Amino acid sequence: MSITDNIKKFREDLPEHVDLCAVSKVKPKEAIQEAYDAGQRIFGENKIQEMTDKQEELPDDIQWQMVGHVQSNKVKYMAPYVSLVHAVHKMKLLKEINKRAKQNERTIDCLIQVKIADEDSKFGMDADKLDDFFDQVDEREYEHVRIIGLMGMATLTDDADQIKKEFNFLHGLYEKYAKRYPQFSKLSMGMSGDYKIALECGSNLVRVGSSIFGPRNYDK
Ligand SMILES: *Cc1c(COP(=O)(O)O)cnc(C)c1O
Repeated sequence: MSITDNIKKFREDLPEHVDLCAVSKVKPKEAIQEAYDAGQRIFGENKIQEMTDKQEELPDDIQWQMVGHVQSNKVKYMAPYVSLVHAVHKMKLLKEINKRAKQNERTIDCLIQVKIADEDSKFGMDADKLDDFFDQVDEREYEHVRIIGLMGMATLTDDADQIKKEFNFLHGLYEKYAKRYPQFSKLSMGMSGDYKIALECGSNLVRVGSSIFGPRNYDK
């Protein structure tokens, strides 16, 4: 199947309220252009430098989303254009995004990444630290960031029950904080291997790479 076919298939298969973030990391801009021509507008990258290079050369109405781990010292490069940062995992990073958004006279939408997997390798905030974190956010009144939801990555496993348990856990947290924050609207969970489970568990933003663009030679 071509990229065009894959985009069309996802657009037909996904419920209307679910956003598709096409994760184009490592893929050349020609691949992104093909997906764009098939109607796709939301693209995800996991390296700020790579995203910025692509952003400069591709159509202006693309919504660029940073799905990967963000280093604070690189935030300035994406601040002029990034549309959503999926993986905020600490206050220092939120503060930096706020500062750079202000310099660009923008407000940047962010998700908080919560650690739900049974793997130490995955970034994210511990669920039991979220209350403290949101209390601090409220006190600091960062005016140039808007936290609109949560993001999580499930354990890389074939055990669907475990994945479901992790996604359901995140969905519960999302519901809890959505009561406190009316602007909550995005629950980012699900990738090529587990997006169907994620949808069952309440995801409304899936991040799909290889099922659209084909396998990556090297995963980052
Ligand atoms: C690479 C990546 C994806 C997409 O992964 P696929 O398995 O290729 O769909 C989703 N989310 C994040 C954070 C990623 O880094």
